Amino acid sequence: MNAPFADLPVTPRLPALFVGHGSPMNAIEDNAWSRSWRDLGERLPTPQAILCVSAHWMTRGATLVHVGEHPRTIHDFGGFPAALYAQQYPAPGAPDVAAAAGGLASLQPDLQWGLDHGAWSVLMHLFPQADVPVFQLSLDLAKSPQAQFELARDLKSLRERGVLLVGSGNLVHNLRRMQPGGQPYEWAEEFDARMTAAIERRDYAAVIEAEKLGELMRLAHPTTEHFLPLLYALGVADAADELRWFNQGFDLGSISMRSFVLS
Ligand code: ZN
Repeated sequence: MNAPFADLPVTPRLPALFVGHGSPMNAIEDNAWSRSWRDLGERLPTPQAILCVSAHWMTRGATLVHVGEHPRTIHDFGGFPAALYAQQYPAPGAPDVAAAAGGLASLQPDLQWGLDHGAWSVLMHLFPQADVPVFQLSLDLAKSPQAQFELARDLKSLRERGVLLVGSGNLVHNLRRMQPGGQPYEWAEEFDARMTAAIERRDYAAVIEAEKLGELMRLAHPTTEHFLPLLYALGVADAADELRWFNQGFDLGSISMRSFVLS
């Protein structure tokens, strides 16, 4: 990892996003969620590179950063139609930017990963030409939420070097309680509302410490991987950012699709 941060071109501050990705089928379905991703993509400035932190790349003991030149499209799901497995997102990698990120925070270079569906199912709509270089960062589950937030803060200056950060998870994510056509659960709405209020008042500590909500957190996130990408979007937030929500709503009763742009 030797490409220095100082070599990256200075740009106006790029937005940071948190996107609720929900079902992998959103990659190929034309629905309210995916249409809103398309609309957003048309309004976003074109980044030099995209840094995606997806719920679906989990590691233990190190934060990995993918430095490959041609990240492969990973079909990391089971039981979906062939049309979904046929999807490719052939965006180039961003090894220089990934290496520069490694100079800002403690990251280990990786050549094995690529783009998981948390990344490509959303990017297919945001940047359908697949012409913006993309690199992923892993979620190190051995790190505390506070440590992950701080790691993201160390990467914040990438936003002034043409990098768009996309955190891809879900604000509420309980696959065991999904019910087709179901109304959102009370606990799902409550957790969603609490996080929304905390983010609106810029009380990021309340988000980082969501574990303190006890049973409410365990219902909203039986496992935390879809929650953690949120900390990366908030970690790179700037005091001057405006916050804009989109895709407020639930899928299958227990998946919050609520997303935001900081810009
Ligand atoms: Zn997911």
